[in-house]
Amino acid sequence: MSKKYDDINLYEDRDPSPEEISQLLDPFEMEELPFSSLEPRLYNWSQHNLIDQMQKARINDYAKADPSQPKPRLTPSYIKKRLDEYVIGQDQAKYALAVAVYNHYKRINGHAADAYKDVEIQKSNILLMGPTGSGKTYIAKTLAKILDVPFAVADATSLTEAGYVGDDVETILASLINNAGGSIANAQKGIIYIDEIDKIAKKGENASVTRDVSGEGVQQALLKLIEGTIATVPHEGRKSPLDPGTTMDTSNILFICGGAFAGIEKIRETRIAHLNHPEENRVGFMSMPTANKEIIVDDGYTEEDFVKFGLIPEFLGRLPVITTLSALDENALIDILQKPKNSLCKQYQALFSMDDVTLDFEYEALLEIACLANKKGTGARGLRSVIENAMMKLMFDLPDMPNVYKVIVTKEVILGQGDPIILRRKIQAS
Ligand code: ADP
Repeated sequence: MSKKYDDINLYEDRDPSPEEISQLLDPFEMEELPFSSLEPRLYNWSQHNLIDQMQKARINDYAKADPSQPKPRLTPSYIKKRLDEYVIGQDQAKYALAVAVYNHYKRINGHAADAYKDVEIQKSNILLMGPTGSGKTYIAKTLAKILDVPFAVADATSLTEAGYVGDDVETILASLINNAGGSIANAQKGIIYIDEIDKIAKKGENASVTRDVSGEGVQQALLKLIEGTIATVPHEGRKSPLDPGTTMDTSNILFICGGAFAGIEKIRETRIAHLNHPEENRVGFMSMPTANKEIIVDDGYTEEDFVKFGLIPEFLGRLPVITTLSALDENALIDILQKPKNSLCKQYQALFSMDDVTLDFEYEALLEIACLANKKGTGARGLRSVIENAMMKLMFDLPDMPNVYKVIVTKEVILGQGDPIILRRKIQAS
């Protein structure tokens, strides 16, 4: 690390201002540095001020644009950049979503050349596959925020096909209208995220139920809605013969379905194994050893895998964009703690700043939070409870502590084995 980083120690009893820091550090150099290589104090300062400033300057220019200026074009690169402000990693999903959304709005608003006037463009509904807490709901919600359209989340497991106990699929639309402040016109341009879509997979042939009420039946019921139809939305959530409900066109609603699809990797592996060893499938024939077996490498999932998992082909056909989110490792969890616009660290820092206290987290503390959250196996969802538990006592005590100007959260605080470092202002003797 270059000499100039030592200069920061010049500031002994106060933090340097953002201007002072930027004189000492080259923001572009900083951006390249792995956070973990920074000395904790410097790391905290840079995180607190510099990285923030850089992000604001680079990414948010246009977010805070003058309202009199025309709105930025929702190009894929713009959408991806805006998603980057909130969502850590998951690039594959971000690229896929950015392109799908761009095409979705082109399909609604665009004008094709005369030669293609009669070509009907299919809706770009999306299937997100990824483990729990990897950001599926969050990415869909963030997308709606960026696009400034109404958003609703539905849980596929609560849905049943019409006539059975449970929610009819149309109730999803009711919550979208609700979130659109009652405006059908706005709701018709919204985004609906249907979670746990893997839980409505078709039951296997040996299933004991006579009718697959919560699986295939729901997929069938969702088909029309997802593809685009004039649906009747029940008032108060439930259809009744006395209440005709509201009609709504779903053709321009973007549907994003998400699920963990636990076990699908086995289906894929079996498929690949069969491709690599076709002779093992020939029941009743002697398998002949082949000298030159070609190994077929295939990372991706095919439609066939999803059909084997239990999605009916018609349903899958309405979700032309399939993309995956990966499990978040500890480094990603550390980034999630501090980098996004509304990161948990920034939220606590904002709360503390209201008491004129600067809050810093030592790198080891962040690492410990990530490590504990990781052990829970719920992805980024585990972060909040870990940090909340650790901060509780401090949040309780702080308002009664005089002259505090800075608090540093250490690894011991997170482990419940020590107190944070508390820095107090010197009181001038009068
Ligand atoms: P799921 O994949 O189960 O739908 P969520 O999207 O609900 O997971 O994630 C839970 C929370 O974790 C989100 O509200 C968000 O705060 C955080 N989170 C998850 N993934 C990310 C990510 N990639 N980047 C930033 N925050 C994330």
